[in-house]
Amino acid sequence: MNNRTYDFDLFVIGAGSGGVRASRMAAAEGAKVAVAEGRFLGGTCVNVGCVPKKLFVYGAHYHEDFEDAKGYGWTVDGVSFDWPTLRDNKTREIERLNGIYENLLKNAGVELIAGYAALVDQHTIAVGDKRYTAERILVAPGSKAFVPDFPGSEHAITSDEAFYLETFPGKVIVVGGGYIAVEFAGIFAGLGAETVLSYRRDLFLRGFDGDIRETLRDEMLKKHINLKFNSTISKIEKLADGQLQVTWQDGTTETADTVMYATGRVPNIKGLGLEQAGVALADNGAIKVDDNFQTSVPNIYALGDVIDRFQLTPVALAEAMALVRHLYKGQPVAMDYSNIATAVFSQPNIGTVGLTEEQARDQYSNVVIFKTGFRHMKHTLSGRDERVFMKLVVDGDSDRVLGCHMVGPDAGEITQGLAIALKAGATKAIFDQTIGIHPTAAEEFVTMR
Ligand code: NDP
Repeated sequence: MNNRTYDFDLFVIGAGSGGVRASRMAAAEGAKVAVAEGRFLGGTCVNVGCVPKKLFVYGAHYHEDFEDAKGYGWTVDGVSFDWPTLRDNKTREIERLNGIYENLLKNAGVELIAGYAALVDQHTIAVGDKRYTAERILVAPGSKAFVPDFPGSEHAITSDEAFYLETFPGKVIVVGGGYIAVEFAGIFAGLGAETVLSYRRDLFLRGFDGDIRETLRDEMLKKHINLKFNSTISKIEKLADGQLQVTWQDGTTETADTVMYATGRVPNIKGLGLEQAGVALADNGAIKVDDNFQTSVPNIYALGDVIDRFQLTPVALAEAMALVRHLYKGQPVAMDYSNIATAVFSQPNIGTVGLTEEQARDQYSNVVIFKTGFRHMKHTLSGRDERVFMKLVVDGDSDRVLGCHMVGPDAGEITQGLAIALKAGATKAIFDQTIGIHPTAAEEFVTMR
């Protein structure tokens, strides 16, 4: 396919979820592909995101599993937790995955270039002192953690560092009210740290269904996580003993071993030479693209976190596949961003797909809500006071199910199947006709009346 005018048909900047998928698929279509990566193969998700986070979530849950086992007759003595074991086992697994990614790329015939790439012009990329040319360029550098600027903000860590902490903190303050903040608050608390979650408004997870937010709040309080809503840190000082003293905007102070900011992620565009190549940016620093992921420079494309539509790995993968099919198979892109299911791996988990009750009431005049809350069967013997909550949001006129929401064990696993139902346009009558799997928590989704 290569017309020899350029070194490559496609040069991909960034070997994260989107970049790797696009590289492999384009190479499979016969394109001559290179991918440049300056840090680690697999990007945020594999290295400092979804994968190690989920391993930590599993690790943190053992705390309660040991307690819950007693009601089932088990004697669990001498329980202790060793942070370096979890951290280093996790790191070994990530390194194994890095190797798999390398093999996948190499086996697909993709040339791997180690180093940070920058655009020199529309068709030229620099990596260190080397120059490469390409017919098309895909910019997929992902996002990076954002920490607001305030006195002492340099003492705060982000989730990047949390995965590699030298010592496990006795006390941690997590700042933010999004996915990462609630997930890490659950991880730190589960692994034994005294945990404060500070959020600037009155209830975290803005944008999620109101009942879901309240249910998670109640469950986190039961786990003795100190939820400090309507709070903002004005400064952080490092004390002589290494502790961090936090001053809140109301003037009160608090000390902790670690302060972790999870206040969003921003497009990772620094040093990419976008301006030099004429690639236009939106006000928030995201690369502007059209429906075909084409930037303002026709042969330069962008996708994934850097275009800031949905910062989710499966979305970047879908975008990459849509782009490659478009470029090398002539198929229309037609990305459908509706009904994207997500899970928050808080403790307990959240699973959600479709419209929240609040969104549905904005868009439909006849919204019908079905909800249920109950104690999980497992906790009838464990004695744990943890509630499961489930909710269906239905359009009363068409009977279509607009949204499914859950807080409880395995919510992410359960919600994936519901997402298929929503994509297929299932009505509440179809849910009602579906016979449940007994005894499960999931069956409640088909028995709510
Ligand atoms: P989110 O965008 O989810 O949340 C950011 C939080 O930080 C919000 O609560 C926001 O508050 C708060 N915030 C923003 N700026 C400030 C500030 N200047 N001062 C104080 N608070 C601030 O970002 P995350 O960092 O949690 O995660 C990034 C993205 O990664 C997510 O959007 C998600 O798409 C993805 N992700 C997905 C996961 C999953 O699928 N399980 C897991 C982890 C991450 P406010 O509500 O007031 O705006």
